Amino acid sequence: ELILAFESSCDETSVAVVENGTKILSNIIATQINSHKRFGGVVPEVASRHHVQQITRCTEEAMTEAGVTYADLTAVAVTYGPGLVGALLIGVTAAKTIAFAHHLPLIPVNHMAGHTYAASYVAPFHFPLLALLVSGGHTELVYMASAYDFQIIGDTRDDAVGEAYDKIGRVLGIPYPAGKPVDELAHQGQDTFHFPRAMMEEHNLDFSFSGLKSAFINTVHHAEQVGETLNKADLATSFQDAVLDILVGKTLRALQTHPVHQLVIAGGVAANQGLRTRMQAELAKLADPPQLLIPPLRLCGDNAAMIGAAAHVAYAQGIRGDLTLNADPSLSFPLSKETSPV
Ligand code: ATP
Ligand code: MG
Ligand code: FE
Repeated sequence: ELILAFESSCDETSVAVVENGTKILSNIIATQINSHKRFGGVVPEVASRHHVQQITRCTEEAMTEAGVTYADLTAVAVTYGPGLVGALLIGVTAAKTIAFAHHLPLIPVNHMAGHTYAASYVAPFHFPLLALLVSGGHTELVYMASAYDFQIIGDTRDDAVGEAYDKIGRVLGIPYPAGKPVDELAHQGQDTFHFPRAMMEEHNLDFSFSGLKSAFINTVHHAEQVGETLNKADLATSFQDAVLDILVGKTLRALQTHPVHQLVIAGGVAANQGLRTRMQAELAKLADPPQLLIPPLRLCGDNAAMIGAAAHVAYAQGIRGDLTLNADPSLSFPLSKETSPV
């Protein structure tokens, strides 16, 4: 089985060819970061234009690198949400066109299902499984009782963790996306600021990062006003320590009520070295820890190989789209009934 997969939900245009959901034959990723950097974030109109310019080249490269022809393909898969509507539409249109022209089944994929299944390249999934999905737009704990069955049991009440990294990076003078540089800086300082850890005492699995972000920004602005220079590494360490306490703390709590065979960490922020190390260390203290699956760095950020892995499972379950498939910018997993009301 060969799946041609498309991803264009945000600022990466990506096309991949994946064999049997396990082997990446190609995974072309064209990033637009340089075009968005000067605006401090992703500009939707600019993103759409880039996707239009890049998608044909990426598709040709993905097919050539995989060494396959359209006649070899089993199906075409595409991210149809969540994300920027104009950006999603470019991938959806490309996928529909190729599926129609070559009489191939079309598989619609949720972007966050893709992030989750990026971890299936590390080891086959064994259910039940818990996924901590951390990215530019999401911070979720997702329980999977079986394949392709996603239930949100914890969610952010405000900002996503990646978004918080990008915003505090901005006040440190770090260009978008700030996650990686802040992570590196955080390894060079001390937690001297003791920023708040929101909702840690509450008996739910939800997250909140806006208070932490505001505390950070207020601290920096106040110092500027009084002419004080703060240590940037200490600021980054203090921020990251708070983030890790929250992410790891809530995940450990989720594991108590939802015992699982495997714990997945996925999404752009799963690239965070502090998070990877800390989660591993905390799991090692448990009597019967789940197996920890974290995608390799290249598969943490947006890419089409993760969409191909999810599509392989979706295809087996009979999930199909047709030419009426539309982008769904606010597509979401079902909320578990256990989730506390916001
Ligand atoms: P979503 O997946 O929610 O739709 P997105 O696709 O824009 O959002 P991703 O591409 O999955 O997000 O992740 C990008 C985010 O990951 C950015 O906010 C970036 O700063 C963050 N990030 C990348 N590397 C690191 C790191 N090492 N530490 C923390 N954050 C990181
Ligand atoms: Mg991105
Ligand atoms: Fe993403």
